[in-house]
Amino acid sequence: MNTQSQSTINSIDLQFDRKHLWHPYTSMANALPAYGVVAAEGVELQLQDGSKLIDGTSSWWACVHGYSHPKIVAAMQQQTAKLSHVMFGGITHRPAVELARLLVELTSPKLTKVFLADSGSIAVEVAMKMALQYWQGKANTDKQKILTIKNGYHGDTFAAMSVCDPEGGMHTMFGELVTKQLFAPAPQSRFDGEFDPEELNEIASIFEDNHQQIAALLVEPIMQGAGGMRFYHSDYLAALRKLCDKYNVLLILDEIATGFGRTGKLFAYEHSQIEADILCLGKALTGGYISLAATMCSDEVAQGVSDSPAGVFMHGPTFMGNPLACAAAIASIELIKENQWQTQVSAIETQLKTELADAINYEHVNDVRVLGAVGVLEMSSTLNTAELQQEFVNLGVWIRPFSNLIYIMPPYCVTAEQLSKLTHAMKTVAANINPSTNDIAFISHG
Ligand code: PMP
Repeated sequence: MNTQSQSTINSIDLQFDRKHLWHPYTSMANALPAYGVVAAEGVELQLQDGSKLIDGTSSWWACVHGYSHPKIVAAMQQQTAKLSHVMFGGITHRPAVELARLLVELTSPKLTKVFLADSGSIAVEVAMKMALQYWQGKANTDKQKILTIKNGYHGDTFAAMSVCDPEGGMHTMFGELVTKQLFAPAPQSRFDGEFDPEELNEIASIFEDNHQQIAALLVEPIMQGAGGMRFYHSDYLAALRKLCDKYNVLLILDEIATGFGRTGKLFAYEHSQIEADILCLGKALTGGYISLAATMCSDEVAQGVSDSPAGVFMHGPTFMGNPLACAAAIASIELIKENQWQTQVSAIETQLKTELADAINYEHVNDVRVLGAVGVLEMSSTLNTAELQQEFVNLGVWIRPFSNLIYIMPPYCVTAEQLSKLTHAMKTVAANINPSTNDIAFISHG
């Protein structure tokens, strides 16, 4: 194929995109420009004009091994040549079985049953349905509420929305269609600070007063992600497990963003040495190569579900256990099992702490937080994502701020030099926020 036809195939009609194609959390009437990516390799995204950006997002926590990893690509190519999809009702296949075996092996001993769903939000829906059916199996129809903590984020579908921060504003417009759940105050003790047991008083009294209605407590372990990028104390999570045991409430952990090494442990619950009754996984499950999520549960929960009047678990998506996605997940987990991630994540953590520390002295930086391969600058005011986006692109990086947060969670294979470029860009932008307008004082117009 000659170069011209090759470039025609690669070219992206950005005008058509802007006019017709919805992007996450955007307006079609007032669409913002999107950057056309034609390829990605390692930690770099290649734009249509040939320029390359260092990715600080892992495409929203997912691409932990970077892009175009030969082992994952080969696994997917081989699988798609054999069996890209087949229904899961009454049929099984090796990729699903082997993936389930790996998940059972890697997660805590109690988690023995695997439900393969298609996205993180659905994994959360599945977890909530499991909890409700479990209590029906115990002949308890009172336990129909989910307790959660503020600042949480668990997805955009209706049940998932019901456990997102009620004051966060993301989902408030859906009114009566979103079930009312129970919310406790967000944890206050920082991961790297002292734990104050007093902060449990309010959630403890919610348990005490409402446990007869509470089917499960659902939380993101250690890191509250989209609800504010906060890292809370491991003793807080351990105390939540104890409260669940005391009041006969299931514990659902949403490890969709934290799973597979991001916080420095394979799963964030390991910081607190606890086990979940139900665990949600997604994002990095396939190394970010294709959508897949998993909800795992204990024998006890699975038995309760089977004892419910339905006798079966009432969920079964068309693409359940998709073999291509399972093959990608197996290849990704095999890379995780080589254990390089531990050294990589701990090197990233050290470098982030060193390079971001002095940003706390900037006029408009309120807080600097680092845990594992996540670095956060919390600004004093809400940022204009679209304008900042262009600044980051001009600086050669892909960083997507939201609310008042400039944060990164790069692929684990990021080099020290690439990481420095990311932290430099974060600090350059943070240092140039214009205090009078709350806007960026433009740094570069390249
Ligand atoms: N839970 C958490 C903790 C998440 O971060 C996300 C996605 N940002 C979800 C659930 C929802 O996952 P998905 O976008 O794949 O539906």
